[in-house]
Amino acid sequence: MERDERTLGPRHPATAMSKHNYAEALSDSNPQEAERLHREVLAVKLATLGASSVSTGTTYNSLGRLLKQRGALEEAETMLRAALQIREARPAESHDAAITRDELGCVLQAAGRTAEAREMRLRRGRDSLICSNPPCSKSARQAGAPLKACARCGAVWYCGRDCQHADWAASHKRVCTAQAGAD
Ligand SMILES: [Zn+2]
Ligand SMILES: [Zn+2]
Repeated sequence: MERDERTLGPRHPATAMSKHNYAEALSDSNPQEAERLHREVLAVKLATLGASSVSTGTTYNSLGRLLKQRGALEEAETMLRAALQIREARPAESHDAAITRDELGCVLQAAGRTAEAREMRLRRGRDSLICSNPPCSKSARQAGAPLKACARCGAVWYCGRDCQHADWAASHKRVCTAQAGAD
């Protein structure tokens, strides 16, 4: 990263790319530093690649995820919606768009907005749902079977019981609330 910054300069897009990768690697061990780097990278990408670049969307998504982790739900939502707008505009990014919809679903549900979380995950149709256990994130087609909704909140979907149990323990139990009218 430092070598790129020295040879290419701090505002070169390639410097931003390697900083982005460095920030991703730090996201568990040092989330504050990862967040600072992502903000720096976002400013450079906005200035050099523009507000509709796929690469800018990747940084919006990473920053949104970090903000979600530390409970800054309002700003997380803003960042993830910016990522979603970029990703949904491109058919080739449809799996990444589904990942962002799932992240937004988590943010909305953490804010008590369960019905909106459900709508967000469903907004490109049932065929576009992915498994809400982040290490899996399979579509129904990849999983080879329809995804099944959480029976209690009806706002998240999983490819099977293992993923449902794993995500329940990791996060969903803190945000799942019974929802009238869910299917
Ligand atoms: Zn639930
Ligand atoms: Zn799964």
